[in-house]
Amino acid sequence: MSIMEIKERVAAIREEIAALSGGREVKLLAATKTRTAEEIQAAFAAGIDAAGENKAQEFRDKLLSGAFGDGEVHFFGHLQSNKLKYVVGRAALIHSVDSVPLLRAIDTMAGERGVCQNVLAEVNIGREPGKHGLNPEELTGFLDAAADFCHIKVMGLMTVAPIAEIPDENREYFAKMYQLFIDNQAEKRDNVVMKYLSMGMSGDYRAAISEGSNMVRIGTGIFGLRQY
Ligand SMILES: *Cc1c(COP(=O)(O)O)cnc(C)c1O
Repeated sequence: MSIMEIKERVAAIREEIAALSGGREVKLLAATKTRTAEEIQAAFAAGIDAAGENKAQEFRDKLLSGAFGDGEVHFFGHLQSNKLKYVVGRAALIHSVDSVPLLRAIDTMAGERGVCQNVLAEVNIGREPGKHGLNPEELTGFLDAAADFCHIKVMGLMTVAPIAEIPDENREYFAKMYQLFIDNQAEKRDNVVMKYLSMGMSGDYRAAISEGSNMVRIGTGIFGLRQY
């Protein structure tokens, strides 16, 4: 994708978001896996709010090489405990926390590094076997447990919805996520603020925003197909 095309696509997606969100602020994240520093810089110049990576090693390498410039970077892939060191204190937001042991490990490392790490609770809303994320009924226990830690803050929820064959297929899942988000917003818990609802990717961000998402993660829709 040329620099010019990336800028046009970001601008077009912004317009769509504005039309669908009814004035609500929606953060636009570019999923930058496999993309070059030049492509990433073009997306930042076009006004994305943050970049996001899903592999700890790639996240670290790009950070070290300066690929994100001074742009905000998030992490939204599965995190193995031996790779936490690449991410904790370096990602502005870790979207993919789906167990209390992982939350504890992040808290411990954040404490060692003298930072407070913002995270989201990942929910497997489609209950897909083999997919990461808390089952919806596990969310309450997870959020209650956050009170025990003082170097993390749970800032909201994230989901990767099932792959949709047709654009509106995931609406019911997004609606369920929004309900979980709202229900938990009403609860007062230590170290939990329900601020972000991270859902919607290239194939389904329109439906996600219509159902209440305020943070979308878009890769191919901005940069074109990935070449591995
Ligand atoms: C790659 C990725 C995205 C973006 O995927 P596209 O379909 O290319 O928009 C969003 N979320 C996560 C967790 C990803 O790994």
